[in-house]
Amino acid sequence: MTGSSSQFQQLEKLGEGTYATVYKGRNRTTGTLVALKEINLDSEEGTPSTAIREISLMKELDNENIVTLYDVIHTENKLTLVFEFMDKDLKKYMETHGNQGALDIKLVKSFMFQLLKGIMFCHDNRVLHRDLKPQNLLINAKGELKLGDFGLARAFGIPFNTFSNEVVTLWYRAPDVLLGSKSYTTSIDIWSAGCIFAEMCTGKPLFPGTANDDQLIKIFRLMGTPNERTWPGISQFPNFKNNWQIFIPQDLRNMIPNLDSMGLNLLTSLLQMRPDARITARQALQHPWFHEISNPNPLLQHLSDPYQQQQQQQQHHHQQQQQQQQHQQLYQ
Ligand code: ADP
Ligand code: MG
Repeated sequence: MTGSSSQFQQLEKLGEGTYATVYKGRNRTTGTLVALKEINLDSEEGTPSTAIREISLMKELDNENIVTLYDVIHTENKLTLVFEFMDKDLKKYMETHGNQGALDIKLVKSFMFQLLKGIMFCHDNRVLHRDLKPQNLLINAKGELKLGDFGLARAFGIPFNTFSNEVVTLWYRAPDVLLGSKSYTTSIDIWSAGCIFAEMCTGKPLFPGTANDDQLIKIFRLMGTPNERTWPGISQFPNFKNNWQIFIPQDLRNMIPNLDSMGLNLLTSLLQMRPDARITARQALQHPWFHEISNPNPLLQHLSDPYQQQQQQQQHHHQQQQQQQQHQQLYQ
């Protein structure tokens, strides 16, 4: 280690990702905790393009829902990205704080609002994250959620139709990408947000596919097998098959019984099969499911009384159902 990187005391390992190892660190002068993302540099290949992309993009993304990159330390055989310290990624958070992984709906709402704010900021700045998943979302002790790991992110200036097919991690990958579309846009991050939303509610990944085709089939089983009528132009995709098993759309309510109907409505808007039908992050943030967060004024809340009442009734109904279920489980 050269002098510059020893300004940080390296503490325990926080995580290991696809191309880096992340350690907790402490600034020796200020005592501030940081996350040190270490990328080994292969002397043959030079600095990996993922790292260069991550650095140049993150330096420009200054937002409360995006993890801050403080510094970059370049030594002979190592590149260290110094990030603000966050307590856990969302995957670990669900494992430790959830009820078998499932989070309280109030918390899901807070995390979804923050996730969508971070996504909106990226999209407003012409950046696609492309790899949104629980492991890449970071949570701190204040309950703040921030987008991390911009290793696969790219500015989507012109042209944006030449990206390779290998982008979002399979489980969170949009159907248009799985079908071989190369002209995807911001809508791919929105699909991932929908998958993460469902996973926070249930504690289980919504579409845990094992390969490209299996991933598509898992999506079709729930959302229905698309065809030219439901998705004009679908037969033009490289991975389109005319012998897919036909599934009819299922009610998401059965998958996620603890989510109220407004929440299910938002989830459905995020999980639209057709990319052009998917809601934008900005629109999603204005969805009535978030009204209690976006309009914290109780006087204003009072004005939206009919909806509130309806929701409270539903909540009550859900609570009753849950109690019944718990009761059944206890006496089974
Ligand atoms: P990779 O690109 O290799 O996937 P990530 O940036 O996703 O690397 O980091 C890998 C893991 O390290 C994350 O899933 C998370 O558990 C942990 N981690 C990353 N950044 C931070 C941070 N700022 N604070 C705390 N933990 C972090
Ligand atoms: Mg990662």
